[in-house]
Amino acid sequence: RLISSNASDPREDQQDRAIRPANLADYNGQPKVRERLEIFIDAARGRGETLDHTLIFGPPGLGKTTLAHIIAREMGSELKSTSGPVLEKAGDLAAILTNLEEGDVLFVDEIHRLSPVVEEILYPAMEDFQLDIMIGEGPAARSIKLDLPPFTLVGATTRAGLLTAPLRDRFGIVQRLEFYNVDDLSRIVARSCDILAIPVDESGAREVARRARGTPRIANRLLRRVRDYAEVKGDGRIVGPVAEAALDMLEVDSHGLDGTDRRLLNMMMHKFDGGPVGLDSLAAALNEDAGTLEEVVEPYLIQQGFIQRTSRGRQVTNHAWRHFGLRRPGSDGD
Ligand code: ADP
Repeated sequence: RLISSNASDPREDQQDRAIRPANLADYNGQPKVRERLEIFIDAARGRGETLDHTLIFGPPGLGKTTLAHIIAREMGSELKSTSGPVLEKAGDLAAILTNLEEGDVLFVDEIHRLSPVVEEILYPAMEDFQLDIMIGEGPAARSIKLDLPPFTLVGATTRAGLLTAPLRDRFGIVQRLEFYNVDDLSRIVARSCDILAIPVDESGAREVARRARGTPRIANRLLRRVRDYAEVKGDGRIVGPVAEAALDMLEVDSHGLDGTDRRLLNMMMHKFDGGPVGLDSLAAALNEDAGTLEEVVEPYLIQQGFIQRTSRGRQVTNHAWRHFGLRRPGSDGD
């Protein structure tokens, strides 16, 4: 299916829909992005125009899809969503474009994964609301041009560096999402508890927030597991000590580091003496894609001060050695 909803566990899906903020006022954190979008949306609405094409980038789970939904809603438009990898042929995108109605928001997730032939179709569609496509092959091939209704493309990507320059240049609005601080994540957890009728106190919400890797999706996921624990082992209330015990049981690190984070740090500490080590050597040692390490895994570790980028490569910080209760080889400690 070219137009999709991200289907997984239907029960969690339903809860996800319930807690996903539907307007900018309920969208916690990201103050700069929110303020800018508020202005751009207001201005476009005031002029009776569609919003400029918007590119949102940042690590997974920070709220890109949510923002796309919010943009559509605030503009009073329909959202149609698809993703880079499902659009294989030029005709796949043409089918979607010709079904757009005036003012629609077309959300393309993982837009860095569009194939070149599909991207070619997108350029004139974004720039002039024109569909320009070849039909048939060989001597019978014909090119047809169609006018499209004005629409807004909202593209999301975790890998902004992989977008081709011509595609990137066609977005009038480009916004980067940052990791959330503990205060914002606590509010997100408290709001989810409110909607799902989960009893929680401030220390409980904070504990979940602290361990959520700066990421709302992870906060909401941990919340579900902490709720299970609180119901079985306690009286159902998520208070600080209950959240702490639940998260310890789940082996979520006090900084929210996940398995990949720990694997990367351990590899750097044990195999590379803490670095500096080049990204490619690290990727090879971990059997991970270098780009994914750089744009999905590393940003949080850098933001939390576990690793540093130096001119000679990545280096583990003293903070990270201490976090793992280890010492940098050759150091006298501090
Ligand atoms: P992405 O598309 O960046 O991977 P999503 O938009 O799917 O992330 O967000 C993941 C989940 O986190 C959503 O289901 C939503 O409930 C929650 N979420 C994301 N951003 C926010 C926010 N700013 N405020 C509250 N909840 C949020």
